[in-house]
Amino acid sequence: MRQQDLARIGMIKEAKYEEQGGVCAGCKKDMDKDEFLHLAHILPQRKWLINKYGEEIIHHPMNMKLTHANDLCNQRVQMSPNKTGIVEKHVKEIASTFIFSH
Ligand SMILES: [Zn+2]
Repeated sequence: MRQQDLARIGMIKEAKYEEQGGVCAGCKKDMDKDEFLHLAHILPQRKWLINKYGEEIIHHPMNMKLTHANDLCNQRVQMSPNKTGIVEKHVKEIASTFIFSH
């Protein structure tokens, strides 16, 4: 992984930790800032979803939540890609931020 990607991930993790008040988005228990934590994707980073919505949406901080580094906490964050209405709403919310930032 490139140095700038690692820096970006570190910054997102820190921001998410503050935003979530140090609470895991999966199990709702406290996280230790010094332990290794996961940035879990809400809309999962599957190839067909990346092809459909683009990297900008899938790897956007709004599509991520901070969790403990285990599959159970990570998977609890995930949105089912088959719930089209909920998915479209989520994607639109992320896309709407591009209008103001570009
Ligand atoms: Zn957890």
